[in-house]
Amino acid sequence: MADKYDVIVIGAGPGGYVAAIRAAQMGLKTACVEKWIGKEGKVVHGGTCLNVGCIPSKTLLETSHKFVEARDDFSDLGIEAPDVKMDVKKMMARKDKIVKNLTGGISGLFKANGVTALEGTGKVLSSKKVEVSSGDDKTTYEAENIIIASGSVPVEIPPTPLTEGLIVDSTGALEFQEVPKRLGVIGAGVIGLELGSVWNRLGSQVTVLEAMDDFLPMVDQAVAKETQKLLKKQGLDILMGARVTGSETDGDEVTVKYTDSKGDQEAVFDKLIVCVGRRPYTKGVLDDDAGIKLDERGFIFVDDHCRTSVPGVYAIGDCVRGQMLAHKASEEGIMVADIIAGHKAEMNYDAIPCVIYTSPEVAWVGMNEQEAKAAGIKVKSGSFPFAASGRAMANNATEGLAKVIADEETDRILGVHIVGQHAGELIAQGVIAMEFGSSAEDLALTCYAHPTLSEAVHEAALAVEGHAIHMANRKKRK
Ligand code: FAD
Ligand code: AMP
Repeated sequence: MADKYDVIVIGAGPGGYVAAIRAAQMGLKTACVEKWIGKEGKVVHGGTCLNVGCIPSKTLLETSHKFVEARDDFSDLGIEAPDVKMDVKKMMARKDKIVKNLTGGISGLFKANGVTALEGTGKVLSSKKVEVSSGDDKTTYEAENIIIASGSVPVEIPPTPLTEGLIVDSTGALEFQEVPKRLGVIGAGVIGLELGSVWNRLGSQVTVLEAMDDFLPMVDQAVAKETQKLLKKQGLDILMGARVTGSETDGDEVTVKYTDSKGDQEAVFDKLIVCVGRRPYTKGVLDDDAGIKLDERGFIFVDDHCRTSVPGVYAIGDCVRGQMLAHKASEEGIMVADIIAGHKAEMNYDAIPCVIYTSPEVAWVGMNEQEAKAAGIKVKSGSFPFAASGRAMANNATEGLAKVIADEETDRILGVHIVGQHAGELIAQGVIAMEFGSSAEDLALTCYAHPTLSEAVHEAALAVEGHAIHMANRKKRK
């Protein structure tokens, strides 16, 4: 038997590495097991988020956005940049460098905080033991507490099996070395829209096939409709109610079969990205004797404090219920580390922001108007268009709107939904307001710097009572 730890964390994604660092900071003897092999053939930390998720996708989104801005919008500002060209290989090399810096940074943080990094595949055995295997080597460690943070992997669907270089998942779509002429994307979810946007901006003719009829049903319908309109204007051909049923590959093209309201259809692409969601990854993590229960969808079953069915064993992040978001995973990691260290800790699952990093960005927290109404809550709301914001005009970014949704009786903020430039930054205001249980009036009575895009949120809060300043008012103050 090897070393004994207070905490062993399995997985070093944003859930696991944050949990491990926090646990070590709390004075607990902590180890973190990771098996991800990076491009250089060595174990790397950071999980999906740093290696093939949040960071590489945002690097490509930002670069492709800057390219379009320079090519199409600069001349409106009086900047002449005639010959704007894109070097895809250079963009990819920069993305790889950022990923390398960040994943290497976590190893540094582990050292600085005294977290022992164990390399290999971790498996939870019975009686709070963890086996770490690497090749033929197997070592068993004892742990007072175990945190499983094994993450998620892309869902594959039978109609479109992945085919090297032709039918790819989100990871493959971050590696294209040239711009495909005709690109198909299955799924108009967050990842599909982001990756579709990257390649659309770089010149692909992009068709998004989405089985559902409603576009972004989790977003307030006013914001979702505006987003759909703006993405269409940018050239994304989003086909709603189009369910993919099959595919055929032929040399260097793929024919996708789908059904829509008109019947059976076909479309031909040079590349196809399958973005139909992610599923929890628990393969090889749980020994049969470990006694840890999964739910009916394959997630590790946990309570509100991320406790599994076995005392002393916790699970966090994408492998448990809730939104598959890096910051949700990290916050759960902090909560669990604090609980293990003997503190009282809670997560507020009602105030987790979500962002789609398209251009403009879409961001929301809390309920949308349709959800609140469906829950039987009487709602009032206020919206403000970016077109009426002085700063948005100065920024040449007048598309979008901010909407504040509040309880009609208590005025408490139920949700904030935004589409507009830097919506992902602006949403933090809604998150903080909701975390503090603010009313719409609290936001309305707060002093905002001028001229900022944040003022759109202020004006939306003022508009809840019909008192937006820079918009035709609907109500007179009593
Ligand atoms: P992961 O990051 O998946 O990490 C799990 C880790 O556990 C992996 O490193 C894996 O190798 C390791 N592991 C698994 N089993 C074992 C084992 N038995 N032994 C040892 N190690 C093991 N989220 C956002 O919040 N914002 C975004 O902008 C965003 N963009 C995304 C873009 C894309 C293209 C994708 C695919 C995802 C994106 N996400 C985003 C989602 C985000 O990446 C995940 O929610 C997040 O990574 C989940 O963190 P996690 O720690 O739970 O799991
Ligand atoms: P998300 O889970 O947010 O990443 O979104 C995935 C999207 O893929 C959902 O909106 C699904 O409706 C969509 N989807 C799943 N299967 C299919 C399919 N066979 N054809 C088209 N869209 C699909």
